[in-house]
Amino acid sequence: MGTSTSKHVVIIGAGYCGLAAAYELTKRGIKTTVIERDADIGGLAGTFEVNGARLEKFYHHWFTNDAHVMGLINELGKHDQILLRQTRTGMYYANNFFKLSTPLDLLRFTPLSFVDRIRLGLLALKARRVKDWRTLENVTAADWLRSMGGERVYQVVWEPLLRGKFGEVAEEVSAVWFWNKLKLRGGSRGKGGAEQLAYYRGGFAALANAVAEAIKAQGGEIRTNSLVTGLHMESGQVKGVIVDGAILPADAVIATPPLPVVADLIEQHAPVDYLDKIRRIRYIANICIVLELNQSLSETYWLNVNDPGFPFVGVIEHTNFEPKSTYGGRHIIYTSKYLPESDALYQMPDNEVVDFTIEHLQRMFPEFKRDWLIDAHVWRAMYSQPIVEKHYSALIPAYQTPLNGLYLASMAQIYPEDRGTNYAIREGRAIANIVQTALSQ
Ligand SMILES: Cc1cc2nc3c(=O)[nH]c(=O)nc-3n(C[C@H](O)[C@H](O)[C@H](O)COP(=O)(O)OP(=O)(O)OC[C@H]3O[C@@H](n4cnc5c(N)ncnc54)[C@H](O)[C@@H]3O)c2cc1C
Repeated sequence: MGTSTSKHVVIIGAGYCGLAAAYELTKRGIKTTVIERDADIGGLAGTFEVNGARLEKFYHHWFTNDAHVMGLINELGKHDQILLRQTRTGMYYANNFFKLSTPLDLLRFTPLSFVDRIRLGLLALKARRVKDWRTLENVTAADWLRSMGGERVYQVVWEPLLRGKFGEVAEEVSAVWFWNKLKLRGGSRGKGGAEQLAYYRGGFAALANAVAEAIKAQGGEIRTNSLVTGLHMESGQVKGVIVDGAILPADAVIATPPLPVVADLIEQHAPVDYLDKIRRIRYIANICIVLELNQSLSETYWLNVNDPGFPFVGVIEHTNFEPKSTYGGRHIIYTSKYLPESDALYQMPDNEVVDFTIEHLQRMFPEFKRDWLIDAHVWRAMYSQPIVEKHYSALIPAYQTPLNGLYLASMAQIYPEDRGTNYAIREGRAIANIVQTALSQ
């Protein structure tokens, strides 16, 4: 444990980054207050209630090699709460389902010729041989994947995934982003090559609560339902934030929201070129539909939808990962789409979104009846994923901002890895370290 100081740090946002930063600062004896505008903590990994249990609004799991999250869980003494499970992965293509959990499944993937199946398998191996991501910064994922696996493999396997994740800007996405995805997924495998994923007993809410408990035990405070609307400045220094119309004094402020939100918060005080820099990074929105059913759709956990006739990137049957008994016997289905916030689906009223979803799922699973539906939920995130384009490293703002006393630890700074709670924890701990050093000088 660190030494106690009279300094006070305010953290904007109680997502995993803000929570990890608060945990680390309070562990070192620094008084810390986390301000969260939502009613609950967890941010993008936040949860809602399903039949007495907490469920993530957007599907969430970890890879077995997510070392930062595993490290934090171990430090909290909660390693017995980690659940490791083999999962079944599949692909929907040309009105057919294909199992794609093991390398052997790949050899049976008939939409590709035998030669292309081999190319696909080799592509994953070649990708893992790339050791330095910098060599990929000048290449788009589309060009890189085409050059390694050929046009047909790209069109059948990769293009739908890229389009599903990034929509119209899919062709702009950097090879670095894709390389990391291949590397991480490839590294999260058990015996026989089948994918293993991790979850937490009680879901991501239980882990967020465990971190929050530790923060409070170490003397920190977390205020929910509290909106930060601006900075409090004294003699050109950031000396606090404005929360619900009142000044909350601080010696340092850490901002964890998405960059466009931070830009609006600091607009009055920050130099224009800095605001331009942080507004330069684009994001894509996400709409996620959660269905509670009284029957299962399939035995697959993660079904990539590569069929261009379907509007969703995947169908994730969460209860093929976490047992349905957790939710009183209900089967949980997620389906989701990354899209610009101006897209008609994002703007549609919830009941129409649900009808639209059910119609499409019924085409995919003809036996699925509307009366299987117990309840439905629609969640939207405007800034769900930064668009990682070529030379992204040059766009990333530093932890230190031009405003003395203001620090930035936001999802868009995570690179070359893709955003995720594992890296939010890494960034949270890193920023805590930087702020502690600055405060002690
Ligand atoms: C569809 C989807 C699926 C995902 N799947 C996974 C997965 O399987 N595994 C995984 O690890 N990650 C997954 N992620 C990513 C993961 O959720 C994020 O990377 C992570 O939660 C980001 O944490 P954060 O703390 O950096 O940001 P956020 O979670 O965005 O936290 C920022 C917080 O700031 C708060 N805030 C914003 N403005 C203000 C304000 N003015 N005043 C006060 N508070 C404010 C917000 O309410 C929010 O709580 C997924 C994300 C999506 C969208």
